[in-house]
Amino acid sequence: MEAAPQVENAPPAFHILAKPAGATCNLDCTYCFFLSKEMLYPGSRFRMADELLEKYIQQLIESHRVPEVTIAWQGGEPTLMGLDFFKRSIEYQNKHKKPGMRILNTIQTNGVLLDDEWAAFFKENEFLVGISIDGPREMHDAYRVDKGGAPTFDRVIKGLSYLQKHEVDFNVLTTVHAANGDHPVEVYRCLRDEVGAEFIQFIPIIERGTPETLPVANKGWSDTLEGRPLYINDGSMVTVRSIGAEQYGKFLIGVFNEWVRHDVGQVYVQIFDVSLGSWVGAPPALCIFSPTCGNALAMEHNGDVYSCDHFVEPDYLLGNIEETHMIELVASDKQRQFGKDKLETLPQYCLDCDVRFACHGGCPKNRFIETPDGEPGLNYLCAGYKAFFHHIDRPMKIMSDLLRQNRPPAEIMIILEKEEEARLEEAFSKTRRNEPCPCGSGKKFKQCHGRS
Ligand code: SF4
Ligand code: SF4
Repeated sequence: MEAAPQVENAPPAFHILAKPAGATCNLDCTYCFFLSKEMLYPGSRFRMADELLEKYIQQLIESHRVPEVTIAWQGGEPTLMGLDFFKRSIEYQNKHKKPGMRILNTIQTNGVLLDDEWAAFFKENEFLVGISIDGPREMHDAYRVDKGGAPTFDRVIKGLSYLQKHEVDFNVLTTVHAANGDHPVEVYRCLRDEVGAEFIQFIPIIERGTPETLPVANKGWSDTLEGRPLYINDGSMVTVRSIGAEQYGKFLIGVFNEWVRHDVGQVYVQIFDVSLGSWVGAPPALCIFSPTCGNALAMEHNGDVYSCDHFVEPDYLLGNIEETHMIELVASDKQRQFGKDKLETLPQYCLDCDVRFACHGGCPKNRFIETPDGEPGLNYLCAGYKAFFHHIDRPMKIMSDLLRQNRPPAEIMIILEKEEEARLEEAFSKTRRNEPCPCGSGKKFKQCHGRS
């Protein structure tokens, strides 16, 4: 096996989302910014060629100087490539893998094409499957529709059932938007109780636009592909489907309140896990909450590498792995600067912020509003992030203390329950017979906890 070129400043490991079917998808989710990326490659069939597949895997393995490599498949919809493509990818992984190296495959899918054969393959090859579900049926179906505009919830749940039958590891990716943003507990309980998710990731939908693109965006990007503007991170207006900043904060707080009382140690919600890391002083495990970024790139079906999945646009094209080895693109000055910009463009308002240690200004793609004193570059979600990080401060401190004492963070559930009992006892002692019961039942105290 050839060695990777020796490149100065190359990170020992990085993440690259491969899009073997480009932006093509069998669904037509109305908020999907990626569908318009087809316009970057007019006339393309959007299928990664076999030689490129091997080159991609070889270069990815050569580029890593750690014993574990993650191969991340994404789209569009990667299952459109067919199962044989992924079987060949395993052959190439086995052919090029270094001795002692562990390879983890992850795939993000809408779940619609999954069946027994796919699920058996995932199980056999230890894939971690991410499946997109936006909560209960009506909230999921608000925007996650097929090419004919038909709902998809039932088909996704059917696809998921194959994963469960074959005991495939899966996590759920839930986008948070105008249709589900006011229903945190319903969404969370659906994922936990009906879907059976143990790993949940929330992604806020923020579709930026300008006065020129927004009228189109508000109708839905997808009237026709031709009518769809090429989505680039531009403009400071958002579509009606987008989540509001305060709304996102309330959503996270709503889910957190349910989780911290019932599910710590049982259900892993990515943003809570990453936040706990920040509170204990560990390096942030998620690029958006790290001081700098640049180690999470994206590769198109033809080998073009872009700075990030959220910046697959002409200005952020780094090169093509057919011409330049992947590690040279990853370590290029352009990409290193992309990562440093996250820190260097932070407005003073963020530099002075008391929750900066957990937030670090969020993802640059969402930094398109002004600070209260008029400086550009503040994150659109700032108000929501501030509210959320302030809200979780005390419970995070409790869990951090538990960890420092080598006790499980899940003990917080007992601590909070005892506090609640004490609070109620005190409230009961001060409540008159005809006043509402402090337990929140809506009954009079004398007909509820004051009945004795
Ligand atoms: S631009 Fe955003 S999503 Fe991309 S690597 Fe940076 S923080 Fe992560
Ligand atoms: S909460 Fe707002 S001000 Fe604070 S770091 Fe995050 S984006 Fe900046």
